[in-house]
Amino acid sequence: MGDKRILVAGAGGFIGGHFVEYLRSLGAENLVAVDKKPIDEWYQVHDYATNKVLDLQYLDACNEAVVDVQDVYNLAADMGGMGFIENNKALCMLSVLINTHLLEAARAVGVSNFFYASSACVYNGEKQQDVANPGLKEADAYPALAEDGYGWEKLFSERMCRHFMEDFGVRCRVARFHNVYGPFGTYDGGREKAPAAMCRKVIAAKLSGNYDIEIWGDGHQTRSFMYVDDCTFGIKSIMDSHIDYPINLGSAEMVSINQLVDIVEDIAGIKLNRSYNLDAPKGVRGRSSDNTLIQKELNWEPSISLRDGMERTYAWIYDQMTEKA
Ligand code: NAD
Repeated sequence: MGDKRILVAGAGGFIGGHFVEYLRSLGAENLVAVDKKPIDEWYQVHDYATNKVLDLQYLDACNEAVVDVQDVYNLAADMGGMGFIENNKALCMLSVLINTHLLEAARAVGVSNFFYASSACVYNGEKQQDVANPGLKEADAYPALAEDGYGWEKLFSERMCRHFMEDFGVRCRVARFHNVYGPFGTYDGGREKAPAAMCRKVIAAKLSGNYDIEIWGDGHQTRSFMYVDDCTFGIKSIMDSHIDYPINLGSAEMVSINQLVDIVEDIAGIKLNRSYNLDAPKGVRGRSSDNTLIQKELNWEPSISLRDGMERTYAWIYDQMTEKA
């Protein structure tokens, strides 16, 4: 990759922090890492990168970020787990400004390649009402009935990428991430997603000796979870590919939330007393990734097992929680 100048937007976040490191491991030497958070709040700060604090919802900031840049990876968004996106729909929709202004800035300077991180939340809710979800196919985004707020923003931004490609020749690649998890991400504070939240709750139970745990929903709702190393590999592979339409980037290993808790209990070596909060935000009933297309296009799909990935995630969260204590 040499000295090609590459921008990672949202580099202070979970996936962005890992992705900067992944690009470096491939030999990238000229990395620009941008996030709106103060640098001491970034999950990972890589000294070899040019690290900048910019609020990319503004066009001026985007213009500054793309100077001399050839490739843009847009991983910046105001987002979180179900508890966050169900209660912050307007904030989620405002992320449209980030992608719109980044595309505008990229077009103005003739950026070669643009990646946009979309989400499984674009999929039609009616196709996710059964726990036995057969896996969402790319075509299931239409007719459109996306997750309110966050999902509609993603769907709109996907289309913005498509039209910037068709009308202005900006080469865009779009992946629909399905639940990503791993170390160096959020595990408390309200934006965390189920895998990190489960690790935190189980670790707290283990450390305190209070083995009561609250689970959101009835525990039967299903999801698939992709370990972050599969995600970073997939982002780069999709960016380098000829895939010029939004494609799933997710695991097809579907589990219920109860099975996710079983895994974490097993890692921790404890059994908990589960109670179910049916009033908590719980999202769709069943969701998984159909990987037929990515298999066909790349001869690859995310394959790190949930058990392996959760072990690494649990270990990292355990260290964070015991260091803080
Ligand atoms: P994250 O919240 O950890 O990282 C996003 C980063 O974007 C944050 O550090 C945030 O400060 C930054 N950001 C927000 N607004 C910004 C702005 N105006 N200017 C500059 N930076 C800004 O989230 P993540 O899990 O790393 O997600 C990365 C991308 O992947 C997001 O677009 C997200 O919607 C998408 N995605 C993630 C998942 C998942 O499970 N983590 C699933 C589907 C899609």
